[in-house]
Amino acid sequence: MPTPHEILKTVFGYDSFRPLQEEIINQILAHNDTFVLMPTGGGKSMCYQIPAIIFEGITIVVSPLISLMKDQVDALKSNGVEAEALNSNNSEDVNYHIRINCESGITKILYISPERLQKEIPWMQSKLNVSLFAIDEAHCISQWGHDFRPEYTQLNCLRSMFPKSVIMALTATADKITREDIIKQLDLQSYKTFISSFDRPNLSLEVRQGYSENEKINAIISIVKRHQNESGIIYCLSRKNTEKVVDLLHKQGVTAKAYHAGMSTPDRNKVQDDFINDRINIVCATVAFGMGIDKSNVRYVIHYNMPKSIENFYQEIGRGGRDGLEAETILFYNIQDIITLRRFAEESDTKEINLEKLKRMQEYAEAQVCRRQILLNYFGEHSNGNCCNCDICKNPPQHFDGTVVVQKALSAIKRTDEKIGFTHTIDILRGSQNADIIKLGYDQLKTFGVGSDISASIWYDYLLQMLQLGYIEIAYNDYNHLKITDSGSDVLYGRSKAQLAIPKPKTYKQKEGKQDKKTIEKQSAPINEDNRLFEILRTLRKTIAEENNWPAYVVLPDKSLKELAIHKPLSVENFGNIYGVGNRKKEQFGARFVKAIADYLNTEPIEEPIESQEIMPHQELSYMEKQKQLYSNAYQPWTAEDDSKLIEMYNAGESIKQLAEFFDRGRGAIRSRLKKLNIIV
Ligand code: ADP
Ligand code: MG
Ligand code: ZN
Repeated sequence: MPTPHEILKTVFGYDSFRPLQEEIINQILAHNDTFVLMPTGGGKSMCYQIPAIIFEGITIVVSPLISLMKDQVDALKSNGVEAEALNSNNSEDVNYHIRINCESGITKILYISPERLQKEIPWMQSKLNVSLFAIDEAHCISQWGHDFRPEYTQLNCLRSMFPKSVIMALTATADKITREDIIKQLDLQSYKTFISSFDRPNLSLEVRQGYSENEKINAIISIVKRHQNESGIIYCLSRKNTEKVVDLLHKQGVTAKAYHAGMSTPDRNKVQDDFINDRINIVCATVAFGMGIDKSNVRYVIHYNMPKSIENFYQEIGRGGRDGLEAETILFYNIQDIITLRRFAEESDTKEINLEKLKRMQEYAEAQVCRRQILLNYFGEHSNGNCCNCDICKNPPQHFDGTVVVQKALSAIKRTDEKIGFTHTIDILRGSQNADIIKLGYDQLKTFGVGSDISASIWYDYLLQMLQLGYIEIAYNDYNHLKITDSGSDVLYGRSKAQLAIPKPKTYKQKEGKQDKKTIEKQSAPINEDNRLFEILRTLRKTIAEENNWPAYVVLPDKSLKELAIHKPLSVENFGNIYGVGNRKKEQFGARFVKAIADYLNTEPIEEPIESQEIMPHQELSYMEKQKQLYSNAYQPWTAEDDSKLIEMYNAGESIKQLAEFFDRGRGAIRSRLKKLNIIV
């Protein structure tokens, strides 16, 4: 039997385990229950997939989202692992065949939704040898978690019903109460807990405060332009906002799609599908988006509005850079979001907890110390506080004596009897003659216009700082008016001095890349040969993806394409050494990629005999399997015979699905062949 490490290499094409993966796998192989807490993108799936390949029986993966199942199954199949998903999207006919394959031991990994599992338990007990239950997104079982699903509570019977199977729970939800609740409800026995570091060093962290709506859009456009042809997610607080941002971007010639709960399920699925398959690059979404998307090449995550907690924030930015390559995260922070989120929190059932969570999120946004340190501390980890990949570390704030500035603002507030909010304070300081101000008589105040030399957006920044420094407070119960605190009074009456940070320039106005060396390199790098080859390989990947009806990253992740463009392997054997290429992919697409590289280099591929390696334990082939092998020409070119058979069958009324099954190719491949033959348009 191959070792876990050998499987990692030969099946998945990776050279080394990520932290804790190997320990977790060994624990499972020793038949112990296991609890795994790992951040999004940490590589949880591998922790049950490798044992599943090694175990004699079947592994059942319980997962809440059907869309997630399809991706995982596609990805496993692309690596030659027999996986299926039992769900209500399949016809009963398909489900029937899946059941047969599970019973005969062909299927090694079966994905199933919790509600479906309940129905299938008697079948599993009588017909299957279940080695392992992997409960993915296990926090859904707990009311304390952020995504409770009642169907999950039924899982609490598994431990007693399957005394011989190993149970493992996997989640990215950090807090302790939820963790303990999961373990209790699943009744894990003599289990071991694995908590991996939540650090994702490849995610850069940046907060931009005090941007107006217009400024945000301009900033986003320049971010998007830096990431041409790359994928990104923009998170918004509300439906309305997602649509507004999409609109504003469209007006500037940038294409993006909205995604929110108000859309129909098919519409939502379409957006998700287009995003996964790189047909659209940008999605403006509410928090609902991204749950269960294993798209590894998301290069930036923007928060147009502030999230309500650090858990949410971390999960959302965690959708960037899952391939381990650099990804950028930018949070836009302003006070209006805080006011809105506070209102939500106050109206919620768990008001105290939610207000506290919001406060911690706010602390992150307002931080003057390394932001990664704040995040890691939140999850109970220590860090030395100099990550070199957050805006504070890269560009530490510079301070100046802001006593006079603060006094001007405080005195404006004071003279209105503390009856104004941010906007009016700025209007008064800048001497804006608008109708409101005149109606309220504020243009008569002594402080009217005393700060006209400072722009409104800088005043906004100063006021935010004053809030953060505790000189003023927002009276949430009194129209969000600003109130002067005791330490504010000390500054106002000259009893103490105030240090303010020099506001960071709004980066869209200057050359965007200035803050980040890497970006400059990227921008100024001439288009060299590798980039051209990369694009050629990307196109080939897309073709193969369409043929198989897979998302592009299932064929190969970006990182693999990058390695290919650097190493330019000319033999299939060398192609197999590239990151993310296991044996199956080597055999199935190796020749095509190598040919593309050879063509590009104007040379010939090096022919080498490929020794195929047996990975799965040998099994007696079922009738279905044998049939399948006979027609297993998925990656061979179509022969003239195939073509005439295809046309004949199509004209005889066989559906695309049936044809796909008969020829053992993807439905997309069938469709494109039929198109090519001018049978369909
Ligand atoms: P999670 O479920 O923890 O969010 P996934 O299991 O989806 O994360 O893994 C994220 C990505 O990391 C996937 O594309 C996966 O193929 C990749 N990955 C997992 N383990 C490794 C490894 N040891 N080396 C390289 N890539 C890995
Ligand atoms: Mg996962
Ligand atoms: Zn830092």
